[in-house]
Amino acid sequence: MANDDQFKKVISHAKEYGYVFQSSEIYDGLSAVYDYAQNGAELKKNIRDYWWKAMVQMNDNIVGIDSAIFMHPTIWKASGHVDAFNDPLIDNKDSKKRYRADVLIEDYCAKIETKIDKEVSKAEKRFGDTFNKAEFVSTNPRVVGYQEKIESILTRMGKSLGAEDLADVKALIEELEIADPLTGSKNWTDVKQFNLMFGTKLGASAEHAMDLYLRPETAQGIFVNFLNVQKTGRMKIPFGIAQTGKAFRNEIVARQFIFRMREFEQMEMQFFIKPGTQKEWFDYWKETRMKWHLSLGLGEENYRFHDHEKLAHYADAATDIEFKFPFGFKELEGIHSRTDFDLKQHEEFSGKKLQYFDHEDNASYTPYVLETSIGLDRMFLAIFSNALVEEELDNNTTRTVLKLPAVLAPVKAAILPLVKKDGLPDIAKQIVEDLKWDFNVDYDEKDAVGRRYRRQDANGTPFCITVDHDTLEDNTVTIRHRDTMEQKRVKIADLKDIIKAEVDVKHWLMKMK
Ligand code: ATP
Repeated sequence: MANDDQFKKVISHAKEYGYVFQSSEIYDGLSAVYDYAQNGAELKKNIRDYWWKAMVQMNDNIVGIDSAIFMHPTIWKASGHVDAFNDPLIDNKDSKKRYRADVLIEDYCAKIETKIDKEVSKAEKRFGDTFNKAEFVSTNPRVVGYQEKIESILTRMGKSLGAEDLADVKALIEELEIADPLTGSKNWTDVKQFNLMFGTKLGASAEHAMDLYLRPETAQGIFVNFLNVQKTGRMKIPFGIAQTGKAFRNEIVARQFIFRMREFEQMEMQFFIKPGTQKEWFDYWKETRMKWHLSLGLGEENYRFHDHEKLAHYADAATDIEFKFPFGFKELEGIHSRTDFDLKQHEEFSGKKLQYFDHEDNASYTPYVLETSIGLDRMFLAIFSNALVEEELDNNTTRTVLKLPAVLAPVKAAILPLVKKDGLPDIAKQIVEDLKWDFNVDYDEKDAVGRRYRRQDANGTPFCITVDHDTLEDNTVTIRHRDTMEQKRVKIADLKDIIKAEVDVKHWLMKMK
């Protein structure tokens, strides 16, 4: 399936099966804002829980908080967001469409990367088993040329953006002859900076109202509570503070479904460490976060690190975990070594000391910070788009199946009476009553059982449990597995253990070890 088609299919499947709806749809929608529907809310909650368990519950030196969305406005001065949380934007004079200048350039580089991929797959076919990808990529003149081109473009862009040389960013777009992706026009305006924070007001009277921002990241809520948590939790460095919650950004270009939203949710963890140990912890969190991703079984080939050459003003090392979305490899999670920038800034702007007294060293210092930051909605999209497959069956038909990791699936099992009579619905309902203490389960009696199986496959339900006439005799049911479609006869009394073995968080998180 072409990538574009796959992406369209993901969006329509998400709607059809009650995962994601356009916000305010009956009023024609609100751009880049989405609602999670009955199944989507469950999947999202399960992803959030999976993250929280791995970060907070499994680490005795990490605790979780839930800070407010509204924060004192000076926080955003201190953090640098008021002055520097900008995206470089460019308008096309003919189409009147607005783009992020850096994204136009990155997309241009992604196209060159596609050419590299094509060369690699051609060579793979030519050389067969003897093909050595690493050697080919580092020696084939055409591939090396492409790579050098990408590197020189990104380095120049990084330098120009870093130096606020927006004229050069425009010059680069013109030199590369980048056209409006929608219309092909190359008639561009100058590049301008655009602040991404949403403003609002606090207070009843217009005169005394205070200008506030909706937080553009959850991290600052952790920094300003650093000392409160450290003292009340008697935390010893190294320790972490985690939180999940909404963040808001007035994104310029937001048309990739829930990949880039104006209201989204982050799952962030700030790990406070002794200055000088940041390299060690950076490597540790890089590896640990990647293990978390791999534990979900979406395929190792779908992830890669992208180490940053151009670092934000607060960072001394940064990498992205990129995922292969239907529209290519894109950032899913960021891991940043933030030095003591944030705490120092808040010390300066608040006039309060934010230091840690180290009993071992008998000295106070401002801790350094390692951050892991992942978008919950992006993680949702990664999982959902990876799970949606069209499968050819032996009898020349196809089925649509949503192969969600069982631990995250919204509904763990559907209980189906074969027919709506002879007491079968009563037994099926009793099974629902018994299982619902442990799992989110569904009862479904409408349509032929084959159609119900298909519906549950498309919904991502790992198990279907069918109650038939034999059940009346021997208290057994048929359990059907979503991915293998294998059916087994089992005792009703064993259902809980069978389901648990596959959906239990422990079973999945153990893979990180
Ligand atoms: P991008 O370069 O894609 O705009 P970013 O580098 O600005 O992302 P961060 O500020 O590092 O992102 O935010 C951490 C994480 O939050 C990202 O890795 C991403 O998963 C998520 N995120 C950021 N912006 C959005 C958004 N507009 N919609 C959904 N998720 C987002």
